[in-house]
Amino acid sequence: MPTFDTGLISRIQQANDIVDVIGEHLALKRKGREMLGLCPFHEDHRPSFNVNPTKQIFKCFACGAGGDVIKFIQMRENLTFPQALQRLADRAGIKVEPFRPHTSHEPRDTSDDADPNDIARANAWAAKYFAANLTHPEKGKDVRKYVAERQLSDDSVKSWQIGLALGADNDLLTAARQKKIPDKLLLAAGLVVGAGSSLSDKFVNRLMFTIADATGKIIAFGGRTLSGEGAKYINSPTTALFDKSNSLFGLDRARHQMVSSDTAVVVEGYTDCIMAHQFGVSNVVATLGTSFTIGHARILRRYAKKVVLLFDSDTAGLEAANRALGVALGSHIDIAIASVPQGKDPCDFLLAQGKELFAKIIDNATDVFTFKWARLNANLGSQPTLAGKKQAVDEYLDAIATAITAGNVSAIERGLIVNNLSRVMSLDAKEINSELIRRSGRARTASSYTGAADDSHTPLDLGEGLSANAQREILEVLLAHPSLFDDIKDKISPQNFDVPALERVAQAVFQTLSQKTRASIQTICSAVEDPQLAGLMTTLEHEGAEKGNFTKRLADALTALEHVEQQKNKIAGNKHDLICDVAKQDRRNMGMI
Ligand SMILES: [Zn+2]
Repeated sequence: MPTFDTGLISRIQQANDIVDVIGEHLALKRKGREMLGLCPFHEDHRPSFNVNPTKQIFKCFACGAGGDVIKFIQMRENLTFPQALQRLADRAGIKVEPFRPHTSHEPRDTSDDADPNDIARANAWAAKYFAANLTHPEKGKDVRKYVAERQLSDDSVKSWQIGLALGADNDLLTAARQKKIPDKLLLAAGLVVGAGSSLSDKFVNRLMFTIADATGKIIAFGGRTLSGEGAKYINSPTTALFDKSNSLFGLDRARHQMVSSDTAVVVEGYTDCIMAHQFGVSNVVATLGTSFTIGHARILRRYAKKVVLLFDSDTAGLEAANRALGVALGSHIDIAIASVPQGKDPCDFLLAQGKELFAKIIDNATDVFTFKWARLNANLGSQPTLAGKKQAVDEYLDAIATAITAGNVSAIERGLIVNNLSRVMSLDAKEINSELIRRSGRARTASSYTGAADDSHTPLDLGEGLSANAQREILEVLLAHPSLFDDIKDKISPQNFDVPALERVAQAVFQTLSQKTRASIQTICSAVEDPQLAGLMTTLEHEGAEKGNFTKRLADALTALEHVEQQKNKIAGNKHDLICDVAKQDRRNMGMI
């Protein structure tokens, strides 16, 4: 994990006022000295999200999310700490020295631990290289014709960095070697395949699409065959930077419109996505040859409450609905399903029918519960038998019970789901609820479903009992009133904290305050990279400030901790005595004493 100079972090914080930055993502209203808004990190119906301009922190009093401006960007845009830092540095025009974990005279000798930043640089070079091939007067001539036939505009080609992988032997490899880009890096980036002296280009004779992350960094490529050879589409392999189940094409361009429309539209193809943007529908992203996953849903729920899955007419089957149902329940996001009419993909449809009819299809998307129920019923035919109906009900409730079990659905959400089902199926809510409870029990024991549990929903364990409470008190006081650090810094250290989450907070608090007494909560927050810990810090700080009475509480907590330590030592001592006694007794019995 890269480390950053604390001076740089603080410069970036100062240059990005938290009210301005958050105001770009949600509406804030002033209330007294603070700003209030609807929390983007949970289903918020009354404004629980608090931004404090003086402290430069945010706090949601309903879901516990909190932190400084960097944490907000991390959570909101699903970025790592360094990515969020970079984003805010860019916003303020501050230059961040690229992080280099190894120096040039220490070459890396394995490709699989390549630095993601190096891979991104190799990809950026390759994107320019592919684009230059496409615009080359001779080399790109035929393919430009093909692109024009597909009606992708010159603007789209340029802004989406569409390019061309040539058919010639190892064209990219040769060019990269001339640029002194190491073979190992090309391998790590998935731009070449093979080993040793038999390396060859991964993409041959393909129209190249550039895949970026939310920050616009190029993480991979997708290539469409131009010769008809091989698979129609191939992607970069999984690398240190890219995992197709957790990446979406067009995310960097769609995210703003997703936020303002509160809807994300997901299509299946690169050209579908690009064409939608070309027509001015810019909340559209594409999956990369996989079905829509929980990973995708988690990314999108940072930007929008609702996801519309737009299928080609031939793929919106029951299978897709089943998967989407599981994702919807497992990721706490509303999913609706739509498809373009017979025989078309979204790209064709846009070209033939235009933007308005396309927008109408999205507006008329069916929520996934209704969609699945309608499909099941359609399968029953026009004159369903009682047995057939019962089977449909069974299948529907089984699927939902499994998804509920896998998705850690809360009681409140379950209530909403039951109401929804009752409406969709025209059955009594009570009856549905008891059926679901019965089936959930079965699903829990039978389910081998993994990967759906969302760890960000698991609350931190703060321990219990006298010692844990004392540890918590000390942190509350230090966070709310940092100048008291001087009074205790020689008495205890982070080692005295044995509740893991509190120990991690203590480490950040002690480290920051020993460098800078009176460091603000904003500064202490930026000493941890984990947003959940920052949330905990803001909670502790808030509770500490509410309770006041700092000096006495700190002294009491220290006494309590000392007392607990003494007890521990005493018990350990007693145990030791007891063991000695037993040993003595044994020896006595054996006639040794
Ligand atoms: Zn919240």
